Amino acid sequence: MNDRSHDSQAGTRDRGMPAQGSSAVGNRLHVCVGYSCNNNCMFCMEDDRVARAARLKAQTPEDVRRMMTLDPDAREVMFTSGEPTLHPRLGEYIRMARDLGFPTVGLITNGRRLAYKPYARELLEAGLNHVLVSIHGPNGKVHDMLTRSKGAFVQAVAGLANLAALRGEFPGLKVHTSYVVNALNVRYFREFYDAMRPLGVDQHVFNVMMPDGRGGTDMGHLMARYRDVAGAFQAFVAGLPPEGVARVFLLDIPYCTTTALPDPVRGYVERYFHYEPDGETGFEPHGPAGGAAAGDEVSADLLQASALDGENVRYSKVAKGAHDAAMRVKRPECASCGFDGLCRGVFRQYVERWGWDEFVPVRPGFGSPPPPERAGEGDGFPKETLAVDEAASGRSNPPERAGEGDGFPKETLAVDEAASGRSKGA
Ligand code: SF4
Repeated sequence: MNDRSHDSQAGTRDRGMPAQGSSAVGNRLHVCVGYSCNNNCMFCMEDDRVARAARLKAQTPEDVRRMMTLDPDAREVMFTSGEPTLHPRLGEYIRMARDLGFPTVGLITNGRRLAYKPYARELLEAGLNHVLVSIHGPNGKVHDMLTRSKGAFVQAVAGLANLAALRGEFPGLKVHTSYVVNALNVRYFREFYDAMRPLGVDQHVFNVMMPDGRGGTDMGHLMARYRDVAGAFQAFVAGLPPEGVARVFLLDIPYCTTTALPDPVRGYVERYFHYEPDGETGFEPHGPAGGAAAGDEVSADLLQASALDGENVRYSKVAKGAHDAAMRVKRPECASCGFDGLCRGVFRQYVERWGWDEFVPVRPGFGSPPPPERAGEGDGFPKETLAVDEAASGRSNPPERAGEGDGFPKETLAVDEAASGRSKGA
């Protein structure tokens, strides 16, 4: 065991939230291991699944070990990308992380394979102590629609139930859910919370969808306006008991749009880093550390080319902030905002479509007037919803397992209508 364990954050609330003055890179290492995925989410950021599979198949167990030993400041490791539980060596990697002394050994998963209790137990025995289950609706109608995978909700809930049942044996286990907020599920926060209550989840993280990958391609139909998300979340939180407020958290939304929310439930953007083969990051190193970004150029503190020698390839160290620097923008007025130093800006695609009206500089501690429009005033549900559901369910993104069919299009349409509460032509 190395000295990583001295800095255990056990007992603190894990909000994935940056603190002012902390490094741009963060101390959470994402290790990408999922060649493929058994869900087919409408908003998946990893659109090029063929490239992902090729990239990860070139990655060896020794590469994974090097990733976990290179940076002495790393305190958490999260296995992610695609669906990590489909990787046959996941248990071995978890054990490796535990033996290297990481206080937090985590997994970002759709939860489906955790429905098999012996498998869930195997991962926990290997050292897994933080599980983040991606679940995007209060029931199968919504979640299976968004994941385009029939039965995904039932299996994810069974996985959560297994984790709850195993907590007695693994008392250090933390279980979070991650709900990608979009136009098709923004109205179900409370239903989701109530559906999850029996499952003993520690924290529900609501990540606002990023217009990246499929979410970028279909953002006109899938992206919820920030003002609608903030309004719906405000109403949701107002109806929660104190213990519920302590358990929910809204992430990936500009701070100036959430001033009507209590501070403990709102966040900014996540900080983590990962390793990616040189030349496949999509970015170019740019200028000195802390320098301004331009286009797809990012500063040296966010992208370090050839930081790691793998057995087959050399890897760059890429901070989450590199993606933000390339995709988010600010306007001159942001310089007067109290959160300018913390905020990474607004997605360029978002402001190109909807403009800057929602983003009013904020003085910390004083707030600003609530957004003029709230979800629930008006229908809050885009008229395009039914059309996009049909289009999205028929998209050509290939499922990744032989025999998986075409993403369940027939059922998806039926589900979409039920989930939206409308019939065609409404
Ligand atoms: S810096 Fe700009 S985008 Fe960020 S919170 Fe302030 S006003 Fe909003």
